[in-house]
Amino acid sequence: MDILLMGPPGAGKGTQGALLAENLQLPKFATGDLLRDAVKRGTPLGQRAKAVMEAGHLVSDDIILGIVREELAKPEASQGVIFDGVVRTIPQAEGVDRLLLERGRRMDAVLFFDVTDEEILSRLAKRRDVEKRADDDPAALATRLSAYRKQTA
Ligand code: AMP
Repeated sequence: MDILLMGPPGAGKGTQGALLAENLQLPKFATGDLLRDAVKRGTPLGQRAKAVMEAGHLVSDDIILGIVREELAKPEASQGVIFDGVVRTIPQAEGVDRLLLERGRRMDAVLFFDVTDEEILSRLAKRRDVEKRADDDPAALATRLSAYRKQTA
């Protein structure tokens, strides 16, 4: 089963996705986690994504679809994937549809996390204290929320 989690930053996709993944015994695939790890390790992907991510902008669709293609090729993804944080643009949605179709699959469900801006801001202020993510600082966060509204919503 392939399930897509959509919603603004800080809505709880990661938390709920982990529960779903455990219950359904499927891998959770979070592009944000994968990219943060690449940045930390300084891989070529990380070097390309670092500045864009820290400013709160979206990484290019080509990069994201390349990562999705690699994820879907893994044996553990053969029964389905919980997609967390991807897709975020229309070309990504079309690309992921195509990549699934190549494997005879279609997205089985899309879960939308409908959370108010007020709630998001208060949750992210708490996360900033705990996780210390560079892109949860107020300027980057404003850019991320605006990217969500303009490109994802
Ligand atoms: P997240 O942890 O999902 O909030 O992602 C953190 C950052 O990684 C985002 O602000 C983007 O810079 C980048 N990112 C993660 N997923 C995507 C995606 N599907 N498309 C573009 N950029 C992404």
